[in-house]
Amino acid sequence: MENPLTPEVLADPVALTRALVDIESVSLDEKAIADCVEEVLRRVPHLSTFRHGNTVMARTDLGRDSRVVLAGHLDTVPLNDNFPSTMRGDLMYGCGTSDMKSGVAFALHLAVTLPDPRYDVTYLFYEAEEIESRYNGLTLVGGAHPEWLQADFAVLLEPTYGIVEVGCQGTMRAVVTLHGERAHAARSWRGVNAIHGAGEVLRRLSTYEARRVTIDGCDFREGLNAVRIGGGVAGNVVPDRCEIEINYRFAPDRDPAAAEAHLREVLAGYELTVTDVAAGALPGLKAPVAQEFLAAVGSAPRGKLGWTDVARFAAMGIPALNFGPGDPNLAHHKDEHVELTKIRDGAATLHRWLTPA
Ligand SMILES: [Zn+2]
Repeated sequence: MENPLTPEVLADPVALTRALVDIESVSLDEKAIADCVEEVLRRVPHLSTFRHGNTVMARTDLGRDSRVVLAGHLDTVPLNDNFPSTMRGDLMYGCGTSDMKSGVAFALHLAVTLPDPRYDVTYLFYEAEEIESRYNGLTLVGGAHPEWLQADFAVLLEPTYGIVEVGCQGTMRAVVTLHGERAHAARSWRGVNAIHGAGEVLRRLSTYEARRVTIDGCDFREGLNAVRIGGGVAGNVVPDRCEIEINYRFAPDRDPAAAEAHLREVLAGYELTVTDVAAGALPGLKAPVAQEFLAAVGSAPRGKLGWTDVARFAAMGIPALNFGPGDPNLAHHKDEHVELTKIRDGAATLHRWLTPA
């Protein structure tokens, strides 16, 4: 395949977004896009470029006082009749337009066109963000080359519709298991129906009042939901087991232990197993580099509700935030799209931040 990321395309964040969208890269199938990105970066004289799996890292080494990370994931959720991209007026439609190839385009455009940024910059293009954490390019790099992630500040170019979203909520998955006793459905009184036991659990969840909390001026809104339910043996058997999977999104003033304690309180009396948890991240806006970034953007930050890799950097003590052109409400939707003006404005903002007046 000829590399579609030509110099003309790289010079224009809109054209670059479209070219990236048109390289299919559903999670675990990022080789083609990583090849294209790596080839481009290796040609840039002011960058040192490295690769681990399908994650590509390029960085300047200018001896600046501070180092910042600009990071974007190369993968998308599965296609949904939305590939390749299409244009409608000021909107570009297609899988990954919002989440997050428009953000990836920012980083790649700046990597290629900015030989002399005010901070040293590490550009990270990583694989498998949309699936389990063990496949995530940042998890893999964090194990194999932790020094690639070292920085004073990180910007993750996830969709935020052009505003700054800080911190992020934690996420916990848990399973409530209900037990019963099998019986023939014709003599159901001899058994105990585990599925019927779900009623009270679902009632507690549906009447649950989620907490709202303000941290450093940013509002966070929690959520507690059943996301899957399973049970049943056969059409004529009273089921002896029912499992309800629960997802709890918790504000970053709660750590995973506090979140679990709260969940156990809400579902007291039930067998509950936590299957997966990712801590949230506090806003972390005090670092001077973060302040300079906020000044360049010029609008007030907002609390991030979804879990993002911001938390991964926060866990390493690196303040991080989200800033990208896509609309987070459209991510993973069939009609996912991005506004071209958001791409142009956001690229200009990052350029302003990285080039001293
Ligand atoms: Zn994303």
